This record gives sequence, C-alpha cells and structure tokens, in this order.
Amino acid sequence: MAPTKIIVVGGSYAGIAVINQLLASKANQKQEIEITLIERQQNWIPYTKLFPKGSKHKIVQGKIAEVHHHHVILATGVSIPFDYMALCTGSLNPSPAKFNVDSSAEALAITKKAREDLVKSKSVVVVGGGACGVELAGEIKTAYQDKNVTLIHATSTLVDYPGYSDAMKSGALTHLESLGVNVVLNEKIAIEGLTFENAIQVAPRSIHASGKVIESDIQFLSVGIRVDTGYLSTLKPANHAAFDSSRLVNAGTHTIKVRKTLQIDQEGLTHIFAVGDCGDFSKVPTAAACKFTAPTAAKNILALAENENSKKTSSLSNGNAPPAVMCLTTGPTTGVLSLPLVGMRFSNFFSKLLKSKDLMLGGILADMRTK
Ligand SMILES: Cc1cc2nc3c(=O)[nH]c(=O)nc-3n(C[C@H](O)[C@H](O)[C@H](O)COP(=O)(O)OP(=O)(O)OC[C@H]3O[C@@H](n4cnc5c(N)ncnc54)[C@H](O)[C@@H]3O)c2cc1C
Repeated sequence: MAPTKIIVVGGSYAGIAVINQLLASKANQKQEIEITLIERQQNWIPYTKLFPKGSKHKIVQGKIAEVHHHHVILATGVSIPFDYMALCTGSLNPSPAKFNVDSSAEALAITKKAREDLVKSKSVVVVGGGACGVELAGEIKTAYQDKNVTLIHATSTLVDYPGYSDAMKSGALTHLESLGVNVVLNEKIAIEGLTFENAIQVAPRSIHASGKVIESDIQFLSVGIRVDTGYLSTLKPANHAAFDSSRLVNAGTHTIKVRKTLQIDQEGLTHIFAVGDCGDFSKVPTAAACKFTAPTAAKNILALAENENSKKTSSLSNGNAPPAVMCLTTGPTTGVLSLPLVGMRFSNFFSKLLKSKDLMLGGILADMRTK
C-alpha cells in the first residue's frame, strides 16, 4: 500500500509540534506515512535532524502559493500532492518582532541596522502595548538607560488579552514604569511614515499625546498581527466549482475557520487542518497554544488515514482550549508571568528562569532536534 502523504506547511512552533506528534504516533500505526515539510524561509533553522536519517520524509524550501483539493502549488510553480495537510503558516508581526523575508541573512541585516540606529538615537517611541511592544520597550530601556523610551498604547490596559490575569496586565505597567519607561495610555496615534512595512523608522517626529509633545528620533510600530492565508483562494471541495473560498477564512483577521478537531470547517475539506496562529482555534495566538493544539491535529490526521485504509470509523478528538499562560520579559532580569498557579510576586524570578536566559529558544531548538 502506498504511504499516506502528509504535508505540513510552516516549520515553526505549530508545524514542528505536528510533525513530532506524527512521528511519535506513527509507531502505533500500520499505515506508512510520508511527511513533507514545506517552509518558505531559507537557512533560517537547520532542519537537518528533524526526521530520522534514511526516512522517506522530506523538507522542501518554498512558499505555497495555492492550495487545491489534493495538491499545493509553490510560488515556483512546483506541484506537491497530499492526502492530508496541516497548514501551520502562522502570522506576521511588524519587525523586529518577526521578519517578512525569506532568508535569515535578510532578517539579520534588518536587526543589525535597527541596533545601529538605536545606538545613535536619543529618544525612542514604541507604538502598541501588546506583548511585543511591552517587551521591546522594556528591553530597550534596560539596555540603554540613558535613552528616553516612551510606549504609547491605544487603550487603558497593556497586554489586554482575553482570559489573562489582571495581575499580569497591571504588572506589565508597573515593571515598565519602574524601569523608567514613559507609558502613555488611551492614545491611539498614527506617526507619519511608520507602517507595518516600515515598522522601524529613523526620523525626527514630534508626537502629540496626553497633552504633551513627545520628541523622538526613532519609532517602532508594534501593532497589528497579520495572517496571510491568501493561498486558500483556490481551495474548493471536489465537484464544487462555484464554491466561494473566502468562506474558509474570517473576514478581517484572515485566520482559517477550524472545527474543534482542528480540521478546516467545511464539508469536503476536512482532510486539511490548520494549527497555530493561522487558525482561529485559540483566542490569543501563542507558541504555548500550538503545543496544545498541534498534537490533536496530528492524531486526527492519523486517525483519518487509518479509518480510510481499514474502513474503520474511529472518532476524532477535540483540541483543548490552551491555558492563559504568558511570560513577558521586560529585560534580562525582570518580567511578569501569567501562570494559573503562580502569583505575581514570583514574576521576576520565574520570567528570568523561563524566558530571559534564552528567550525559550532552547525548547524549540530541542523540539527541532538542531542540537
Ligand atoms: C516578539 C514575540 C515574542 C513572543 N513571545 C512568546 C512567548 O513568550 N510565548 C508564547 O507562547 N508565544 C510568544 N509569541 C507568539 C508566538 O511567537 C507565535 O504564537 C508563534 O510563533 C506561532 O507559531 P506558528 O507555528 O503558528 O507560526 P509562526 O511562528 O508564525 O511560523 C509560521 C511558519 O510558516 C512559514 N510560512 C508562512 N507562510 C508560508 C507559506 N505560504 N509557505 C511556506 N511556509 C510559510 C513561515 O516562514 C514560518 O516559519 C511571541 C511572538 C513574538 C512576535
């Protein structure tokens, strides 16, 4: 029997967790599987040890441009067939939080330039007090105590995500203020020239906020997460030429509508799954959430494959809502933590222990078996 072809698109938190669960569970399966990881970025992460040596699994560097019922087409025009697929294409934040480029060299160049510009600046403004903005403002102020750092946020509460503790939200403000960051709340501002595409701007700007004028010579935009699921515009259930593919995504966010099983929420397309930031399963997109949802998607893919091959009808599992866990670091030794069982007063200790040391890279690199 031919192996079941499984494509995983996106080799980050969600995609790697799906692959690891597929590899771990397949031992119990009679059906052979052949996994293809498709990842747009080059030389970003060495995936060389992700799959066991000599296995049939493959890594393809490329960007999927179109998804069809049983194949994808890369931007290069190459077509790759699949029986099942997990879309794990994530999200984009303005740089330097994430980089909308295809190679690590380009991302490093952006980071290097931002560092150089930051060193030369005197007054820094960060727009947006979500997790990325809070961390960025805190880290800059910690590293450059002589610089004026202002964080401007549109509403009355920083990191105001649903389900997260008020202690974490007020803790973020306290931490930043104790570091010396000037936090301006309830000000929705637009700065000339500062856009998602030009999210690190070196330019003199006088910003009017809260009845004051804030001078700055460098500004960072830290607002707006973008999800690019345009590749779904070609996807239709079989024999349904008139199907309107825009129904597969949420208007506005472009996240993929999924069922509790992580399958695309559309009859005839339930062999395709969406996991992580590109799907709408988790209210707040986090790497921690991927760890909760990806195993369910992987197990359900294998269950569907087994059902098909043995004509069984085992039922699929529902994913669990990820807990409201978040670790916000405002510098190498300070931060706040939202953990259901841990109180605020342990925040610095735990955030340092959990994240500041290596920004949790150790965990994901271990998952990717890079070391
Ligand atoms: C600065 C910052 C700090 C954060 N800190 C934390 C934290 O401490 N804890 C936490 O839980 N979460 C944190 N997050 C959130 C976390 O990073 C995301 O939730 C996580 O990256 C989502 O993982 P993902 O696999 O869904 O998508 P992503 O990490 O966005 O990865 C998607 C992958 O898909 C690839 N891809 C995209 N489109 C295509 C395509 N068309 N074809 C092929 N490949 C494609 C991309 O190159 C990428 O490798 C942080 C985010 C930022 C920006």
